[in-house]
Amino acid sequence: MVTLNDPGLFRTAAYIDGQWVHETPHGTYALSNPATGAVLAHLPRCQEAETDAAIEAADVAFASWRKLAAQTRADILRRWFDLLVAAREDIARLITLEEGKPIREARGEVDYAASFLRWFSEEATRVRGDVIPAKIATQRIVTLRQPVGVCAAITPWNFPAAMITRKAGPALAAGCTMVVKPASQTPLTALALAELAERAGVPRGVFSVLTGNDTRAIGGRLTGHDKVRKLTFTGSTEVGRVLLRQSADTIKTCSMELGGNAPVLVFDDADIAGAVDGLMVAKFRNTGQSCVGANRIFVQDGIYDAFAEAFAARVAALKLGNGLDEATEVGPLIDVGAVAKVEEHIADALGRGARVLTGGERAPDGPCFYRPTVLADVPTDALIAHEETFGPVAPLIRFSTDAEGIALANASEFGLAAYVFAKDAARIWTVAESIESGIVGINTGFISNETAPFGGVKQSGLGREGSHLGIDEYLEVKYLCWDGVAPR
Ligand code: NAP
Repeated sequence: MVTLNDPGLFRTAAYIDGQWVHETPHGTYALSNPATGAVLAHLPRCQEAETDAAIEAADVAFASWRKLAAQTRADILRRWFDLLVAAREDIARLITLEEGKPIREARGEVDYAASFLRWFSEEATRVRGDVIPAKIATQRIVTLRQPVGVCAAITPWNFPAAMITRKAGPALAAGCTMVVKPASQTPLTALALAELAERAGVPRGVFSVLTGNDTRAIGGRLTGHDKVRKLTFTGSTEVGRVLLRQSADTIKTCSMELGGNAPVLVFDDADIAGAVDGLMVAKFRNTGQSCVGANRIFVQDGIYDAFAEAFAARVAALKLGNGLDEATEVGPLIDVGAVAKVEEHIADALGRGARVLTGGERAPDGPCFYRPTVLADVPTDALIAHEETFGPVAPLIRFSTDAEGIALANASEFGLAAYVFAKDAARIWTVAESIESGIVGINTGFISNETAPFGGVKQSGLGREGSHLGIDEYLEVKYLCWDGVAPR
């Protein structure tokens, strides 16, 4: 049973064209709480027809939404922000129930999610074009920036609120409409956002949410329908590749926020306490299930032992438990498959000579719980040094020279976030410039906020979200070439 201060936020139907769709011909699927296994809700299974209906509605709504004054769209987004902030406690509870993260982190996610609505409500009124000096005296060249059109958003479970508002905020601000397919494991937060959007005055069809676990059926239409002009995806690199291929036939604009595998470089001159603080956030936030989560921790020889000891002591003290408990610092993983991947990575590393400093086993709290773990002396050929683990395991890998550290950090197909802990300014500058990633955290493990451009290079993605750049992803440039004007 899910109890909220505002029961109207507990929605268990798809939201299509401003209507709550409780039934489809395809039945329902059960959603469960990863901490307890308890069934939270049964949700309707949308497939092709429901997806098409949401796209058609978004297309109809686009015609009028794009024509509203930017200030009117801004005001609606601002109301959505205000309502989300007011509903902070309920939305945080939904996030913890369906995703498992500690309630204190869930509140932080609501703040982060809301920040994109406020930021892009402000950016809505700042979309500008250019006047370009023409080559011919009787001509004038003017550019307009216009909304791309109907957008499809496919989002992951690990940040069920923020990964939606980081897309819907700029899309709606630009004048686009959006059909969202949230992860099948976290639809409740997405539906509560839709309820708040409706209360804020977002017109029907502008923002729809599809529920269901027939992922390929929904994804096939979102990527194949010619009225969808843009796909914005956050999730794994593997699925991103599939969606890019599927979008090729209708030549959609694509933004891709994909997998991470972030390297961390802790240099000899780093402040050990500060580096440990930074890593506790970069590694263990959301039980290690973050795309910018520290996955490969390279520690320089001179500081290795002292750092490993201090870090392992902090990790050993982390409180594991049900995220609804205010004292919990690390919750469950999303499902038993995620636990199996953690076990596989740890067994592989131990088989190659790594040592467990703390953790290294399942916890008795339930089948999705694994103890926060630190591994020392992990060799660079271990699986964990190449694949995103997405779990509460911190592998420590030794390096000696700065050049070696940079080469190890860059030896990955991914390039989303990286972290550097050091004091020497010249060293920091050299390393930050040399690292192949879209984001570099310097002496901090906390890098995400609405004012900064978020996104990856290499196989971590295409495009940027957040910041003044985020709205560009939802705008096309149109150029007007006027002739017959009197020469100046
Ligand atoms: P995922 O398996 O790629 O799923 C992400 C979304 O794609 C879900 O909504 C999923 O639906 C959907 N999906 C899966 N296969 C699909 C298909 N064939 N067609 C259409 N949709 C499909 O990733 P995840 O396990 O949810 O999330 C973890 C991954 O996301 C990690 O790799 C992480 O690094 C990445 N991530 C990246 C960022 C970033 O900003 N770069 C942020 C957060 C997470 P179902 O739920 O129905 O399967």
